Amino acid sequence: MQKFAILLSMLLAGSSLSSAQDQDFSKVQIKVTKVAGNVFMLEGEGGNIAVSVGEDGIVVVDDQYAPLADRIQAALKDISDKPIRFIINTHYHADHVGGNEYFQKQAPIIAHDNVRKRLEEGGTVGNLSSLKFETKPMAKPGLPILTFGQDVTIHLNGEDIHVLHIPHGHTDGDSIIFFPKSNVVHMGDDFLRIGFPFIDLASGGSVRGLIAGLEEIVLKLPPDVKVIPGHGVISNLNDVRACVKMLKETLSVVEQGVKRGKSLEQLKQEKVLEAWKQLSNDFISTDAFIETLYNDLIGKPGTFIKHN
Ligand SMILES: [Zn+2]
Repeated sequence: MQKFAILLSMLLAGSSLSSAQDQDFSKVQIKVTKVAGNVFMLEGEGGNIAVSVGEDGIVVVDDQYAPLADRIQAALKDISDKPIRFIINTHYHADHVGGNEYFQKQAPIIAHDNVRKRLEEGGTVGNLSSLKFETKPMAKPGLPILTFGQDVTIHLNGEDIHVLHIPHGHTDGDSIIFFPKSNVVHMGDDFLRIGFPFIDLASGGSVRGLIAGLEEIVLKLPPDVKVIPGHGVISNLNDVRACVKMLKETLSVVEQGVKRGKSLEQLKQEKVLEAWKQLSNDFISTDAFIETLYNDLIGKPGTFIKHN
């Protein structure tokens, strides 16, 4: 159950209701797993970290929470004594960017334009009446100093590390990071292995955008690529395909209900997603996921995406 508490804490950590300082990180240890080639996965608390190590130095994808930064640094030292060259943020949520200020003293943070914009401004995270948090603006030293509009490639450690933007997925600033030589991809929170996904409609996320983005990315990736999800265990493309299938099927069920004039309350009462209830978790329950799909379909205020 701990991972769900972690996800919830991720929102609280970035919100005015609480802060990362209020959380107890004292017992968190950083676990290092070799994924493939020269890519490792680091787990502590918050989003999974990917690390590329090689002759040129270290490239880090996401940096969890500020209180863990020195432990993450120590774990990196165990893998390589080379310097950090770049840190990439997959998106702006607090459990992926908390170490930015610490690590940007060593190397630049790279992220999509919307990551910097949302970090700079603060704002609303969430998608539901019951799941909505205000985030505080991030202090300047933690803001990504290199931003891009679509894609960017980093030529280090003998490979062309592709940073690929999904326009409207989990948020509107998502990047997926593909290490072609090592044959590993970090999906950010566009792909999770924790049950129903969290799709942050208030931050420009979109269920249909996520489906489109994942379908496109699956076509670009080698069939045997190792997949690091934003949260959860190392996976493969079949797991990503299963997620896309679930998103399409559940969206279709809720869409049929909306077309028949059902209200959100009716859809919940009729348990229209009962067939997927094993994906329910403490963070996104079946009802919460029905509400996400419903809000995405009807374009409720707070869901800023206009669909064609
Ligand atoms: Zn996230």
